[in-house]
Amino acid sequence: MILPISTYGDNVLRKTALPIKEKTEKIDNLISDMFETLLRAGGVGLAAPQIGEQLQLFIIINGDFEEVFINAEIIEYSADKQSSQEGCLSVPDIYEYVDRSNTIKIKYLDAEFKEQIREFEGMNAIIIQHEYDHTKGVIFTDKLSPIKKKLLRSKLEKIRKNKVHTDYRVR
Ligand code: ZN
Repeated sequence: MILPISTYGDNVLRKTALPIKEKTEKIDNLISDMFETLLRAGGVGLAAPQIGEQLQLFIIINGDFEEVFINAEIIEYSADKQSSQEGCLSVPDIYEYVDRSNTIKIKYLDAEFKEQIREFEGMNAIIIQHEYDHTKGVIFTDKLSPIKKKLLRSKLEKIRKNKVHTDYRVR
């Protein structure tokens, strides 16, 4: 089932997501709905708060790399950073450069609730950091300079008032 996406201004995007206690049919269904939603919207990552669920869950589809991250914790951020242009399904039509660590180490449960500790680099590391931030109530525009934020203020207000067109369903 394709789910509507929460956009900037929706409170659920600002809450700290809660851990998932166990693998249930409800969680399995939510994960498969999130994949369907992400594929339809054409993004590379989607976090549960973006579909209105305050849960520590996000998924990534980046080419051949597809993964589910449950109760994730980034345990290492490299000091060396890279800057790349990011966008977000919850912040339509805004694309800005953000500095992120080149490599990260992350501990999480996969779709089978099996514990994983893995290192990621490059594009996957960037997407993971972006989605992980969603589980902490952080949106990528929060990371921009005060000047950039000021320049974006009216665009963000438009999104908050749902006056921005998207070709996917929003809530
Ligand atoms: Zn996002």
